[in-house]
Amino acid sequence: MNNDKYQTSATGRCDDKDGACDVLIIGAGPVGLSLSLSLRGLGLDVRLIERQPLKAIATPQFDGREIALSHRSVDILQNLGAWKRIAPDEISPLKSAKVTNGGSQARLHFDARAVGADKLGFLVSNHNIRRALYDEHLECGEACLITGAEATPVKTSGNGSSVTLADGRMFCARLLVAADTRFSTARRAAGISASQHDFGKTMIVSRMKFEHPHNHVAWECFLPGGALAILPLNANEASIVQTFAPEEAARQMALGLDDYAAAAGKRLKGRFGALHPASERCAYPLVSVYANRFAASGFALVGDAAVGMHPVTAHGFNLGVQGQDILARQLRRALGCNRGIADAGALKAYERAHQKLSRPLYWSTLALAELYARETPVARLARRAIFDVGRALPPARKLIMKNLTQPLASAEMARQTSFENY
Ligand SMILES: Cc1cc2nc3c(=O)[nH]c(=O)nc-3n(C[C@H](O)[C@H](O)[C@H](O)COP(=O)(O)OP(=O)(O)OC[C@H]3O[C@@H](n4cnc5c(N)ncnc54)[C@H](O)[C@@H]3O)c2cc1C
Repeated sequence: MNNDKYQTSATGRCDDKDGACDVLIIGAGPVGLSLSLSLRGLGLDVRLIERQPLKAIATPQFDGREIALSHRSVDILQNLGAWKRIAPDEISPLKSAKVTNGGSQARLHFDARAVGADKLGFLVSNHNIRRALYDEHLECGEACLITGAEATPVKTSGNGSSVTLADGRMFCARLLVAADTRFSTARRAAGISASQHDFGKTMIVSRMKFEHPHNHVAWECFLPGGALAILPLNANEASIVQTFAPEEAARQMALGLDDYAAAAGKRLKGRFGALHPASERCAYPLVSVYANRFAASGFALVGDAAVGMHPVTAHGFNLGVQGQDILARQLRRALGCNRGIADAGALKAYERAHQKLSRPLYWSTLALAELYARETPVARLARRAIFDVGRALPPARKLIMKNLTQPLASAEMARQTSFENY
């Protein structure tokens, strides 16, 4: 079967009449697709249900997101077969990062060379990551992808979970996995609560061409009126990420592209010369979400459905792709011990490991984003103090950089050790 609604890979199965399968993943975003690839080779009947039409998944459009990938995430994408599908000129190296506070000349500098690495990470457009994962699914995937289908979960239990589609069809699975955005309806249907934080701000992202070289250095500038980040891309382009209160964001979105670029250049005090628009703008409301559980009987949450990060620390997809990797390893291990695909111990181990990985990052990012969003004298003082401590404590900077540059092997060793406690 291969039309706009149903699509299966060469080896995949997709029997429309028989709605029973082993694993049902709601959402074919980058994390849902990654998980389906991670479950290859286990002899499982895996299905992905996606509400968008096939065209939107097969040829995703530019959405303004430039994803800063850690070395660990790149290793996982390599293992999934997706990394080789991204053209080299679409991969921009991130050599170092600088943070400035207000109008002060003082800077925090994160240089990969301080931990013996030549890059902090890589920047790749979200649509290119999604396309690479889809292409790998199409050529080497085993899962069945059902597109143009909005899923409504009706039941989750240890004996199996079921889902209905908007057209009335029903699917049941031994394990249901929600990868359906930070506003996950499956999470709610499973009765899992989540802490949600609305920053009351809007983030505008777009590509601009720089007059002066950026030398592949990222900048995070905490300026009066809202933060401005520069994510350096190839061909001396960069993603300009600006955060505004909603009214100001609407005003900025109404500007012509040239005027918008000129205003951004002015905020940067001409440091990079003239800025010229190189793409359309995309706006995102800033809301972060942390699910209070990542698993229940016959059910798991992955990606933004589990942890929806504020983008300021660039960890959302990194956590998502690492989380699905942990889940897949646990499920593989459970199957190896004949414990079944919805094994409660495996799901619990996933939950604990992913909470351990994501919780400190989530709450520290939230605190940082809140602190830098406020314009009160106390917030200004606190920012200054944090900045000074960060500059005075090179070990703290080294730790952050190690986390970014840590390759899979050492990260995996750390995880294996901690798994022994579960
Ligand atoms: C401006 C911006 C910049 C970012 N920068 C970074 C960065 O530098 N580094 C980083 O690591 N992360 C970054 N992120 C975060 C990253 O984009 C997300 O973490 C990532 O896209 C989450 O992937 P996902 O697959 O979990 O969810 P999504 O990408 O949201 O995909 C979910 C999918 O589920 C589908 N769906 C939803 N509900 C249903 C339903 N009921 N039935 C069927 N299908 C459904 C949707 O159509 C969608 O395709 C950034 C985010 C933003 C907004």
